[in-house]
Amino acid sequence: MADEKATSPGPSTQSVHAGEPRVQPLNSLTTPISQTSTYSFADTQELRDHFERRIERDEYGRYGNPTQRVAEKKLAALDTAEDGLLFSSGMAAITTTLFAMLSRGTHVVVTDDAYRRTRQFLNQTLGRYGVEASTVPAGDYQRIEEAVRPNTRVIFSESPTNPYNRIVDLEKLVEIAQRRRVKTVIDSTFATPVNQRPIEFGIDLVIHSATKYLGGHNDLLAGAVVGSAPLIAGIRDLQGVTGAVPDPFAAYLLIRGLKTLALRVARQNENAERLAAFLDAHPKVGTVHYPSLKSHPEYEIAARQMSGFGGVVSFEVEGDIDAVSRLVDACEIPRIAPSLGGVESLIEQPALMSFYELTTAERLEVGIKDNLVRYSVGVEDGADLVTDLEQALKKV
Ligand SMILES: *Cc1c(COP(=O)(O)O)cnc(C)c1O
Repeated sequence: MADEKATSPGPSTQSVHAGEPRVQPLNSLTTPISQTSTYSFADTQELRDHFERRIERDEYGRYGNPTQRVAEKKLAALDTAEDGLLFSSGMAAITTTLFAMLSRGTHVVVTDDAYRRTRQFLNQTLGRYGVEASTVPAGDYQRIEEAVRPNTRVIFSESPTNPYNRIVDLEKLVEIAQRRRVKTVIDSTFATPVNQRPIEFGIDLVIHSATKYLGGHNDLLAGAVVGSAPLIAGIRDLQGVTGAVPDPFAAYLLIRGLKTLALRVARQNENAERLAAFLDAHPKVGTVHYPSLKSHPEYEIAARQMSGFGGVVSFEVEGDIDAVSRLVDACEIPRIAPSLGGVESLIEQPALMSFYELTTAERLEVGIKDNLVRYSVGVEDGADLVTDLEQALKKV
């Protein structure tokens, strides 16, 4: 393993070159967009050769596209996985992957702090198809193990989690899962392959909302799953049936965005650490949820299994929901929007964004406090972000 690492290219080289043939059609330097829905056959013999797998070629857009495949190879290389599969959104990657792994009468264990729609899919949608889910606190490995039943097929977790940046000990999770013969799936969106490669810890499948850091420019929707070739093949077959395929143009934008992934993430790590340190020392700010801080409950794990702490800083402001809105409204650099991971800084109050229709009590039940702010740092100058936040905190 160590030898392999020493000779394999670094994340910047991988971001730029991995997955792309050195010689492209028409000598194009960049990967072309194959803007076609279907592929023609020269004659019936070619059709027969295709279906009997004597030749490798494309058939119909729902089963794959050359631009999509280049993006998949790049993502697999970045995450040190055998294969990868691209989807039309992160949620499409999550739902198709879980539908491929679960069936009526099976059970899934999920950790508690997670993307809102993931929670909804696991706890509500899957139940309608006879799949049960148990939610356990992230970080409580005894509870995770106790939740595993004979019919459990998957342990699903984010790490870092959205929005609290909880870190799951991947080694511990894999140890439990392998002993109990259960597959592990990690939503690694917040980390990106630059900061964390769960496959190297023995995680079976890694999911990304490519809409976030991987695309990186707030201009596309996509999702990805990477892992072993046999697992990905099974999910690919189901994608051909359920149909949540990426558009060739989105695949192209993703490849273009990925070129600067390592550069962007390095700056975002740096900006977020700086913002977290500033907020941690500010009298109007309570708990800052960022794993570079020694006060973070999983600082040690993050430092061990990640090479950067990520670009999202969540923090609690000393004030009520309106005081927090005054801070959000007074910021002049970050824009108010859902999403994260792009070059533009974004700020939001989860209580008034993803969880708007819930009451304060219902929000608290799922762990979302009214005074919580989620700040996704972009690639602006860190000093400017701090100065801006400093003036905005005066309005609280
Ligand atoms: C955004 C996000 C998703 C969903 O991805 P979409 O591309 O919006 O479908 C899933 N997990 C995490 C952690 C996310 O941040």
